[in-house]
Amino acid sequence: MKCIDTLPEAQRFVAQFKDGSYRQIVALTGAGISTDSGIPDFRSPGGIWSKRQPVQYQDFVADEDSRLEDWDRRFEMMDYFARAEPNAAHQAMTSLAQAGKLHCLITQNVDGLHQRAGFPNDKLVEIHGNSTFATCLSCGVRAELEAQKPIVDAGQSPRCSDCNGLLKAAVISFGQQMPEMELERAAEAAAACDLFLVLGSSLVVHPAAQLPAIAVRGGADLVILNGQETPLDSYASTVIRTPLAQTFARFGE
Ligand SMILES: [Zn+2]
Repeated sequence: MKCIDTLPEAQRFVAQFKDGSYRQIVALTGAGISTDSGIPDFRSPGGIWSKRQPVQYQDFVADEDSRLEDWDRRFEMMDYFARAEPNAAHQAMTSLAQAGKLHCLITQNVDGLHQRAGFPNDKLVEIHGNSTFATCLSCGVRAELEAQKPIVDAGQSPRCSDCNGLLKAAVISFGQQMPEMELERAAEAAAACDLFLVLGSSLVVHPAAQLPAIAVRGGADLVILNGQETPLDSYASTVIRTPLAQTFARFGE
């Protein structure tokens, strides 16, 4: 395993994702790709999830106070997300997809920054959902977050206008079942790729953490770009420790 920790070397290395012989790239992105956009890692020490316990899915369904707490948290995150802009690493993934090199992008993030960087929806797999909109837990209809704010401010949890079911931000909450179709797509893509990239994921949250192993078993090269060590570093051919936005700063040139 080779470790790169200087910027010029890292920038030269990532250029081969675009210019090299890889044809079937799959990438997994986590919180670390968005911290350079000003979005805190909500799970990290000092992150808002360490100050406020996340609302479990079962509590959301059962209890009005839990729902209001969850909505309050969504609005707080919505403010972070609205202030953030996609960075060079998000842009690099978009340009790799446009060049036909990147076939699937699996993200653990719920911030919508890949979409805002123009990443094609049909190649994006959001395994933790998306918190920039809400869905009805009963009928699945989509609703916008902003429209729910006055209702929550008035002390009520929002309901579906079609079926009166509970509306919830379209993220996968703790205790909520993971989306099976998305996970299947992610595993299939990992098994078929020739290069698996990890960007800004500490690879400790399952099931995302299993995907690099699937890729390596299928014969793919594994490259991990993450500021800290991960449990899968020893499976990687190269590990890159430099900040992601700077690492991809010259990628479009
Ligand atoms: Zn409904």
